[in-house]
Amino acid sequence: MQRLIVSLISLAMTLGGFAARAAGDTKSEQLLAQARAALGGDKNLNKVQGLSAAGTYQRDMGDRQLSGKDKIPDFLTACRSTGVPGEWFDGVEIAGPLAEFEGADRCVPSPAKPGLALIGDAAASTDPSWGCGLSKTLLDVETLSACLLESDDWDAAVQRYAAKHDEHYGKLHDILSWMTELMWSGGPEADERRARVLPRMNADPTGFPDASGQGPFGPCDEQARRLILGLAL
Ligand SMILES: Cc1cc2nc3c(=O)[nH]c(=O)nc-3n(C[C@H](O)[C@H](O)[C@H](O)COP(=O)(O)OP(=O)(O)OC[C@H]3O[C@@H](n4cnc5c(N)ncnc54)[C@H](O)[C@@H]3O)c2cc1C
Repeated sequence: MQRLIVSLISLAMTLGGFAARAAGDTKSEQLLAQARAALGGDKNLNKVQGLSAAGTYQRDMGDRQLSGKDKIPDFLTACRSTGVPGEWFDGVEIAGPLAEFEGADRCVPSPAKPGLALIGDAAASTDPSWGCGLSKTLLDVETLSACLLESDDWDAAVQRYAAKHDEHYGKLHDILSWMTELMWSGGPEADERRARVLPRMNADPTGFPDASGQGPFGPCDEQARRLILGLAL
């Protein structure tokens, strides 16, 4: 319970501070009442200069089948369960179709055989939330056509394509795995790492991977990994 209270107090702070909130909505009044009760009255509350939150992160995994208009209430419940203020969803209007996609990262190693070559998602799919799939598809088209134009031995050509494909996808896979670890890991340590790494990346992106800009042609070595994961160089 104490954890919950601390988190709620912190939320109120994040949304604008005690002073601003004290004059505001009912939710803030409730939070202040909880803070008062937790701290033993107004006298102690007035002494508070800063608060930090402690608690656990909740992360729901797996395919929840949240596709189709019948699933909109379940989708909103899932959104609320993240812990953001419930009133964000008061009076929401549905603006378009709802579909849940698996963030799959899968590949067919060496996606070619004599007379056959796979390209795009059929060869390897990346997690769509990183927005790299279509670029990889076009890269596959370019790579395959270049290999086919190089010689009349198309069986050898598709093997060369397959080797290049695996190299491109392998690099992309590594970069997106590191980015996923940086951006979507939960917990205080992950928060602390984001607070260190993101400003540094923003100030000087040299050496950092560039998933959507350069993809597999940008930095993807041990130094890139260490930069993204905030490890000593
Ligand atoms: C939600 C989401 C968001 C995404 N956002 C981005 C993004 O922002 N940027 C980006 O670059 N990529 C994004 N992607 C990934 C991108 O859409 C794919 O990587 C890309 O479309 C793959 O192209 P493709 O031609 O290999 O496959 P597809 O685009 O899937 O094309 C395959 C086609 O084959 C058809 N088909 C399947 N089976 C058969 C059959 N038996 N007979 C005939 N036709 C068939 C399908 O209907 C489909 O039209 C996203 C993907 C998703 C799911």
